[in-house]
Parts: sequence; structure tokens; C-alpha cells
Amino acid sequence: MIVLGIESSCDETAVAIVKDKKDVLSSIVATQIDAHKEFGGVVPEVASRIHVENISICIEKALQEAGLTMAEIDAVAVTKGPGLIGCLHVGVQAAKTLAFAYHKPLVPVHHLAGHIYANELVVDLKYPVLALIVSGGNSELVYMKDEHSFEILGETQDDAIGEAYDKVARVLGLGYPGGPKIDKLAKEGKPVYTLPQPKTEGRYDFSFSGLKSGVLQFVKRMERNGQTFEMADLAASFQETALNEIFSRVERVLDDYPEIRHFVVGGGVSANSRLREKVEALQDKYPAVEFTVPPMYCCTDNASMIAIAGQIAYEAGRRADAGLTADCSWEIE
Ligand code: ATP
Ligand code: MG
Ligand code: FE
Repeated sequence: MIVLGIESSCDETAVAIVKDKKDVLSSIVATQIDAHKEFGGVVPEVASRIHVENISICIEKALQEAGLTMAEIDAVAVTKGPGLIGCLHVGVQAAKTLAFAYHKPLVPVHHLAGHIYANELVVDLKYPVLALIVSGGNSELVYMKDEHSFEILGETQDDAIGEAYDKVARVLGLGYPGGPKIDKLAKEGKPVYTLPQPKTEGRYDFSFSGLKSGVLQFVKRMERNGQTFEMADLAASFQETALNEIFSRVERVLDDYPEIRHFVVGGGVSANSRLREKVEALQDKYPAVEFTVPPMYCCTDNASMIAIAGQIAYEAGRRADAGLTADCSWEIE
């Protein structure tokens, strides 16, 4: 089965064509990072406008690179949500137009399911799965009994971890997006500073806003007292505290649910090198569980993952009609 996937939930306009969930025939990602850089974050109105400008070109390129015409596509999959509403609408409208002009089935896809299924590119998921989603807008621990069921065990009570990376990078004057910059800087430092360890109520929940303000207060205090500090050490301290928060919850779940066979990570922050080290370290502690981190090229937003999730949803019988609309806060459950 050949699926054309469309993704436009945030600041990447992406179109990909994937055969049988494994074979990426083409994957086009037009990122808007440069347009949002000067604002230090994504400006929704600007993002929607650029999606409109780019979407048709991305569709054309994806077909060209795959050497296919629409006649050879079996289904069109699109991110229905969650994300920025104006941005989502652009992808949904393009997908509806393609599906109805070429008489193809239309499949709505959940963006976070896409981040999870991105792992299918390198491995067959073995259920029950525990998925850790760490991205710009989400931090969640999702339990999947089988391919089609999603149960949120824990989630962030305030900011997403990627958001915290981006805000801390802004405080340190590193620019946007902050994740990769902190990742790089932290390698040159040591986690020597004590930052507030976030507090949460739920056993598997996260919190990052206290840590984020902790970094800001740390910088202000140093400046006020005329003290200097090592930026690299502060980056490393922030990163270590944030990741320890995540991994302590992951271990709790793995201890509480011994039936879990596979642990996978998804979302932009899964590109983080320290996070990848920590996943490797877990492997030794839980030998009965298989651990997978998606390849770097499909950690951040792309449409291959939407095409794969689209095929899985298609096989489960999911279809949309001309009434399909975007849903900015669509629940995965
Ligand atoms: P969501 O998927 O929740 O809708 P999104 O689509 O904006 O949010 P992604 O594209 O999945 O998020 O990920 C972007 C986030 O990943 C940004 O916050 C970015 O800083 C972060 N990120 C990217 N690379 C790294 C890295 N190496 N280390 C840490 N964070 C990173
Ligand atoms: Mg993005
Ligand atoms: Fe994403």
C-alpha cells in the first residue's frame, strides 16, 4: 500500500510518500525555522501563511521524487491535530482536495501517534508498548496495549520539555530552536548547579515550568550579585535535571508494568544526545524490554510518520469524508 502523508501542525510543511510503512519513497520537509528565529518561537499567523505558500510545492516535489502520479497513491493521510489550528487547516484542506479530486480514501492522523509510529521505520513495535513523547508541545507517557489503543499514564502538568529547552535557550541567548543548541553546549559542561527539582502530584506526571523559572532566577541572582557562571555548566545542569525528571517516571512505569515489551521515544527532543545515552543505560537495567529511539531524521516533524500512522489507521478502518476538520486539541485516547 502506498500512502501520501501531509503534516502542517506547527512550523514544518511536510509531505511524504511511504510504501508499506517501511519504505520511504520521498519525504519533503520545508522548515520555517528562519522565519520564526527573530521572534524566538513560532508565530502562528506567520506559520499558517507560509504553509499556504509551500504546501502545493511540497506535494508536487514529493510525487516527483517518488516518481509517482496521484493515480498510483492508495490513500491520503493528514494530521488532524493537535497543533496550531490555522496551520492544521492548511494541511487538512490540501488533503481533502487531493482525496476528492483523485477519488482516494482520506485518513485522519493524530500527530503524536505519528511521532510514536516513526519508530516503525526501523523496527516492528512489540506490544504492549510504552511510548515516551517528548516534543515542542507535549511530554507524555503513553501505554499501548496493542497497535490501536492509547492510554495516557502520565503527562506534563505545565510546559512541554521542548518548550522548556527553547525558553532556557532564550534566557541564555542561544537562539531558536533551543534544543539542539543546549544539547551541544551541555556537552562542554558539567551539571554542577542545583536547580529546583519539579514537584508533581501524579505518579507518572512531569513538570517543567518550575525548572524553567529556576534557570531564569539563577541567571538573575548571579547578575545581581556580580557573580559569573559557566553557561555550559548551566546548560548541562538544566538538561540533567529535566531528563532525570523524565527518566525517573519512565522507570516507575517499567517497574509497575512488567508486561511492557518495548519502550520507544518520539518527538523532537528524542534527537537529544544525552537522552539517547540515558535510553541506552536503561537497556542494561531492563533486559526483558526492547528499547528504540527513532533515527535522527524522523525525530522532529515530518510526514513519513504521518503516512505510516495513516496506513495503520487505514487498516483499522478509519476514514474521513469531506466534512473532515482540524482539531487543535484532539486527544490521543
Ligand atoms: P508537537 O509534536 O508536540 O506538536 P512540535 O511539533 O513543535 O510539537 P517537534 O518538531 O516534534 O515539536 O520538536 C521540536 C522540539 O524539539 C523543539 O522544542 C526543539 O527545541 C526540540 N529539539 C530538537 N532537537 C533537540 C535536541 N537535540 N535536544 C533537545 N531538544 C531538541
Ligand atoms: Mg517543529
Ligand atoms: Fe511534533
